Amino acid sequence: MDKRVPLIFEQTVSGRRGTTFPSSGISVSDAKNLIPEQFLRTGGDEVSLSSFRKEPALLAEVSEPDVVRHYTRLSQLNFSADTHFYPLGSCTMKHNPKINEKISSLPGFTHAHPYQPDEQIQGTLEFLWQLEKMLCELTGMDAFSLHPAAGAQGELVGLLCCRNYFDFLGEKRSTVIVPDSAHGTNPASAALAGYSVIPVPSNKRGRIDKDALRKSLNKDVALVMITCPNTLGLFEDEIQEIAEIVHACGALLYMDGANFNALVALAEPAKLGFDMMHLNLHKTFSVPHGGGGPGAGPVGVRKNLEKFLPDSRIVKEGEKFRTVPESSQSIGQVRSFFGNTGALLRAYAYILSLGHDGLKSVSENAILNANYLLKNLKGNFKPYVDEPCMHECVLSASESAKDGIKTLDIVKRLLDYGFYAPTIYFPLIVPEAMMIEPTETESKKTLDAFTEAMRAILQESKQSPETVKLAPHTTPVRRLDEVTAARNPILRWKRHG
Ligand SMILES: *Cc1c(COP(=O)(O)O)cnc(C)c1O
Repeated sequence: MDKRVPLIFEQTVSGRRGTTFPSSGISVSDAKNLIPEQFLRTGGDEVSLSSFRKEPALLAEVSEPDVVRHYTRLSQLNFSADTHFYPLGSCTMKHNPKINEKISSLPGFTHAHPYQPDEQIQGTLEFLWQLEKMLCELTGMDAFSLHPAAGAQGELVGLLCCRNYFDFLGEKRSTVIVPDSAHGTNPASAALAGYSVIPVPSNKRGRIDKDALRKSLNKDVALVMITCPNTLGLFEDEIQEIAEIVHACGALLYMDGANFNALVALAEPAKLGFDMMHLNLHKTFSVPHGGGGPGAGPVGVRKNLEKFLPDSRIVKEGEKFRTVPESSQSIGQVRSFFGNTGALLRAYAYILSLGHDGLKSVSENAILNANYLLKNLKGNFKPYVDEPCMHECVLSASESAKDGIKTLDIVKRLLDYGFYAPTIYFPLIVPEAMMIEPTETESKKTLDAFTEAMRAILQESKQSPETVKLAPHTTPVRRLDEVTAARNPILRWKRHG
């Protein structure tokens, strides 16, 4: 049976409408004097919506109930953190407390317009200012810019600040060092900022190879970008020594803190030796994300880098808050207005509702849950490094791949068991990788059920491999051609005939 839900366009019935408009009462001849010719469509006596188009709009012709049912049905087909265990490593799909939604939908915030004068949006400016101070306190950094709309944009901002910093010093440095256990956006951002990228390998313990780092460092290196915890879910336990080596050659040390949920209220990156960093508020501080939705990737820096941060910062003067216009050394504006204030507000509500001690137990429980899963599963799947992990663990299905059941097969089968798949084939240095991040809010019961499902799938792989190889069996579609979907997406519906 084809369980595929038809596209909304396939539900079209010619002439069917969800809304009808009253007649405009403006004649076409009058409209011609008001509206440029190229926007007018000929035909008819009275102006209607269709008078302004040469061709009918490419819209589905459906009723309001058709639309409501279609999208409600689609939403129910979705796996989400609100409906399923969602252990997507590195992406941190954690529970988003509903209080955040309530606070972020208060009309004083949602109805504010970014062009309103500062006096009229004091509440918005105040929470942004306070959020910046909280992030400084949690990371030990001296200043934050809340502008970047995502982690990757935060990286770019950090790199541009680094560029301006060395320009200011009058030093020419053109390379950035990125370990092979870094997130893939790091080398991409460095290249986008005009740097050439030098990779550094990991050692047997999955940490940066210090000797290789030493060899790669020279006066041409501007920045060393370290994902911490790294993409193996491991803490760089020699980070202070690494910081000394990097600083000794005049370079800066950047922390990709997208996954700060393993460290928040436990370690301050500035004390570990980092000069700048970004946070993914939409991971660490529970802002719903995914599907390219709005995020927030604030960038924090030490005092000596503050003047390079993006323009339009917020300052407090007495009891009033004010935006400061351009500064000459800033990298400029990177995003309109103040950043994604809706996402920032959710993170603010999250931090306030938990407080310092609450955030500490978030990290502790995230780490505990990941280690519990690692311990449960390491007899079945090989860990890349057999050491305690941080908030996520990386296992390999290379053993079962030898028998023809690959990681992809296993995680597709997981969908039938009612679990979203972990991140797979990442980090790249691990063959048949599965990167599992349970997050702090999951109960032992859920983690045990997940463990059972993973073990059951391994059993099936031996007893009835076809069941696993043809999975999933319960979803509307089975295995999609993701490569064609990415390379050749059909983004426009073509009307037939
Ligand atoms: C998610 C992630 C990023 C990228 O963040 P986006 O908001 O998706 O741009 C960068 N680094 C690490 C370690 C991440 O987990």
